[in-house]
Amino acid sequence: MQKKKLDLNEFMQGLVERNPGETEFHQAVQEVAEDIIPFVNDNPQYMHAALLERMTEPDRIISFRVCWEDDEGHIRVNRGYRVQYNNAIGPYKGGLRFHPSVNQSVLKFLGFEQVFKNSLTTLPMGGGKGGSDFDPKGKSDREVMRFCQSFMTELHKHIGPNRDVPAGDIGVGAREIGYLFGQYKRLENEFTGTLTGKSLEFGGSLIRTEATGYGTVYFMELMLNHRGDSLKGKSVVISGSGNVAQYAAEKVLQLGGRVLTMSDSSGYIHDRDGIDAEKLAYIIDLKTVQRGRISAYAEKYGCDFYPGEKPWSVKCDVALPCATQNEISIDDAKLLVENGIMAVAEGANMPTYIDAIHVFHDNKVLYAPGKASNAGGVAVSGLEMSQNSLRISWSREELDERLRNIMTEIHDQCLKYGKEDGFVDYVKGANLAGFVKVANAMMAYGVI
Ligand code: NDP
Repeated sequence: MQKKKLDLNEFMQGLVERNPGETEFHQAVQEVAEDIIPFVNDNPQYMHAALLERMTEPDRIISFRVCWEDDEGHIRVNRGYRVQYNNAIGPYKGGLRFHPSVNQSVLKFLGFEQVFKNSLTTLPMGGGKGGSDFDPKGKSDREVMRFCQSFMTELHKHIGPNRDVPAGDIGVGAREIGYLFGQYKRLENEFTGTLTGKSLEFGGSLIRTEATGYGTVYFMELMLNHRGDSLKGKSVVISGSGNVAQYAAEKVLQLGGRVLTMSDSSGYIHDRDGIDAEKLAYIIDLKTVQRGRISAYAEKYGCDFYPGEKPWSVKCDVALPCATQNEISIDDAKLLVENGIMAVAEGANMPTYIDAIHVFHDNKVLYAPGKASNAGGVAVSGLEMSQNSLRISWSREELDERLRNIMTEIHDQCLKYGKEDGFVDYVKGANLAGFVKVANAMMAYGVI
């Protein structure tokens, strides 16, 4: 039976009706569908197998109650999730996010993006994402520990080294991974590489902490090199001051760029003299040890702090959004273009609204979507899984080399599918390259 060609509006209308209210999920699918639908219509084998329809429905979603006791003896209740999105090319793999904004829509968008991202890494990993609306901010270590133990008491039934391997994300760093892995190991009575982002003493990988930020900047450098340019001497605006932002800033400094801003959920700091290595060390300590606010930087170094604002009005050559989703609106994108922006690489997942992406595209700004530019984190997580399976540890140099090679391969895949009239559409390149690998695997399995 001949299948009708897909129409973007009709497809999106159906998706919105099936997933009411899940605006982040709609946005993530729309961004991909804009490229995939014309491709699928030109490649009938994918259309007849309803590949896009199948890939926009997660394999399963697990949702559960997480009860824990706070330091005052009050019983608290949160909701935990794991979205096992697609395991066509390997075990489910993707982070856990602990943040009050976490809901099913956010985790479905992140899981969907993760499928494409993991496919681009060239490693055998499917896509998943999970987390909770629990907010670690302001909680004591013991409260975080009790929450993590309760969360894992349910989650452990659904994960394993060949089934689903979670990692960190917003609100889940080394401390949380330690508590989660400790409880997993205790419940399973097995020491396996079921979580990544572990500390070095118990199976973690060198470079994992740095990988997402470093990888984002390697990708930026590859885009600039492809245009005969480089990061050297460029002014760089960064949002966020967490894991990704910290190591993106470090790599920018190593490659000779100038970092002008960093931010957190309370606002941004603008240091006209540039954030150097010493000041960055202060930020890393402030955010990971003291768990303080970015405004403390402005007080210490006497620069400007803009409460409640994002840094996109600061004139720069390069922007690296590294905080969270939907931080660059269409007006922000227009302002960045007016101020002469050359290139944007997303360290965060989906920080740019679709109409803002169109502004970058129309103005020929080099723009790397997170599924390509921030894939270095999950890539090194994949390498952590390999090291755990082989029971070996690779050196920092070897891992950095592998990370660079993977980012180069992702860049090459974007060129293969996204080069048009002397310009590279990295969104299209990443979407098509990520899709083809997963789609071909799904075709091989028949209709499941
Ligand atoms: P962290 O929790 O370490 O840091 C998050 C940063 O973003 C903090 O500065 C935080 O500010 C800020 N932030 C969080 N939520 C908001 C919000 N709603 N509004 C404004 N600022 C916010 O997380 P990561 O650095 O690990 O993650 C950052 C982004 O990178 C996320 O989009 C994540 O999905 C993505 N990513 C992370 C990877 C990783 O390996 N960690 C891998 C690939 C992508 P505050 O301190 O005030 O909370």
